[in-house]
Amino acid sequence: MRIITGIPIFGGIASGDAFVIPDRPEYTIPKYALGPGEAEKDWERFLGAVKTVGEALEAELLRTSGEGRLIFESHRMMLQDTVFRDSLRVFFEQSGLNIEYALDRHLGATTRILRGSNNPVFEERADDITDVFGRVMQELLGNEQFDFGRIPQGAIVAARKLRPSDVPALFKRRPGGLCLAEGGASGHLAILTRACGIPAVFAVPNAHRVIPTGVKVILNGAEGKVYVEPGPQTAAGLLEQRRRDERLLALFRDSRSKPCVTRDGRRIFLLANIGKGEEALEALEEGADGIGLFRTEFLFMDERAWGRSPGGKLVHEDEQYEAYKTVLEVMQGRPVTIRTLDAGGDKFVGSLGESPSGAPEENPLLGERSIRLTLRRPGLFKIQLRALYRASVHGNLRIMIPLVVSLAEVTAVRRLIRNVQKQLAAENIPFNPKTPVGMMVETPAAALSSDAFARHCDFFSVGTNDLTQYSLGIDRENPAVSSLYDEYHLTVLRMIQITAGNALAAGIPVSVCGEMAGAPEGAAFLAGLGIDSLSMAAPLIPRIKHTLSLLSSPDLALLAREALAVHRGTSSFGTVRKLYKGLLAAGSAPEALRSAYDL
Ligand code: PEP
Ligand code: MG
Repeated sequence: MRIITGIPIFGGIASGDAFVIPDRPEYTIPKYALGPGEAEKDWERFLGAVKTVGEALEAELLRTSGEGRLIFESHRMMLQDTVFRDSLRVFFEQSGLNIEYALDRHLGATTRILRGSNNPVFEERADDITDVFGRVMQELLGNEQFDFGRIPQGAIVAARKLRPSDVPALFKRRPGGLCLAEGGASGHLAILTRACGIPAVFAVPNAHRVIPTGVKVILNGAEGKVYVEPGPQTAAGLLEQRRRDERLLALFRDSRSKPCVTRDGRRIFLLANIGKGEEALEALEEGADGIGLFRTEFLFMDERAWGRSPGGKLVHEDEQYEAYKTVLEVMQGRPVTIRTLDAGGDKFVGSLGESPSGAPEENPLLGERSIRLTLRRPGLFKIQLRALYRASVHGNLRIMIPLVVSLAEVTAVRRLIRNVQKQLAAENIPFNPKTPVGMMVETPAAALSSDAFARHCDFFSVGTNDLTQYSLGIDRENPAVSSLYDEYHLTVLRMIQITAGNALAAGIPVSVCGEMAGAPEGAAFLAGLGIDSLSMAAPLIPRIKHTLSLLSSPDLALLAREALAVHRGTSSFGTVRKLYKGLLAAGSAPEALRSAYDL
């Protein structure tokens, strides 16, 4: 038996046979000069790769309908387009270099021109060209796309890393658990994994190398432990723990249909974070009071994107409108907060995540991401705003701006909104002009100046994931520094306190939608600060609802005060956890909870 420890991502014990996703080489473009007569052979290779991709597209066309079919059809046209092919040939012959290098350069130059046009149609064409010739490049480089269909149901999947865009294909296979060598607790892959509710452990050293396919593995998601070929006694102990977890889960499930009310009668609203329209139904089933965060960037991700491979697609206005409308209708008047595109940084959205200049960024997390990116691509942004306002008549919509650092960003968004509203009015398209427009507080700039922002925003939502990352200067995705990434650092807690205080003073609602809200101790701290709206992955709602309802407002306030006490030092996690467990132990917690928490 071997026990490997990583970062806990989603609780639960999963047992099954391992399936290892083979590691893929990085996408590097070779560059070399061609000898006499080699140019013709290289060009033949290019034509061969175009043919293979064309055949794959034909097969995909036969299997696809609707919007997907339109995309494949436009890709097929791009592939046959002689203008791009002829200009590539001229560039390739003049350069005297290999075809992969010429294709990469020519693709970059062509798409930069199209994107610089500020015309959504051309921008879309740039995305299509990047996508389809990216596939040709993969062919030329001999990179194989992994077929997720090979993963057996119930397997414990091990891999070096995955992209958020792989998640739909992976979870369609219904794996028992997930174990990755890389990834951080608050990264986007972790967020998507939690939304799927599958036991998972990340940052497991060399998971994809030391766990062979086919061996028995038991994964303890809550403790971040992976047992490879466990002995019979260990296995029996873990399976007994699984039975205890199941009893606990049944207890939480019982409270799904009830509102979240503390022991002294204070109502706390628990909302869901979603990344796709379909998840709204699941949120309702888990007892969500609304959607606190719809991460729209996941609509823009292409399942086929991998490594540096291009693959983002422009989502048409109608397609976006349908997704937003569905969520609003499913939620039947409950609040639905939809965040505008938060691309870039660690959220790879194919070519949409690239800086508009096309130049690679030295430091993308501090670069042209999120609201900075969308404000520089107003054509793309206006499409999203139009879709949002068109959908606004179908429910209780709130529009949220991500990663704000300056008031100029808020006013620029409001200007674009006025513009879009004028357009819609001229086209006689109905919309709700009173749709609240708020912002994420996820940078120290936003938190510390939240009094100034509160005058210009209708609501705040605190994003503790980025707030921690930017306050501490620690990459939320990097396992090498994950032990330093501390959401309960005094600085982070103080920023949340300042934001909540400024929102209450200005009379605007404040909620929290970062991962802290979905952790029992974190939810208790936030409720103790007077925040009464918490948004989290839907599968976490029943547990938070149950545990908060066992506590009273004065207890929660005490916990928050203690967590913020200076004499406790700079990390308050230990304090919060101890106080939280103490409060539960002193209260009327049922037996199943007592044994699960060792109370
Ligand atoms: C956050 O930063 O806390 C947040 C909710 O946004 P995201 O995780 O999508 O960056
Ligand atoms: Mg964020």
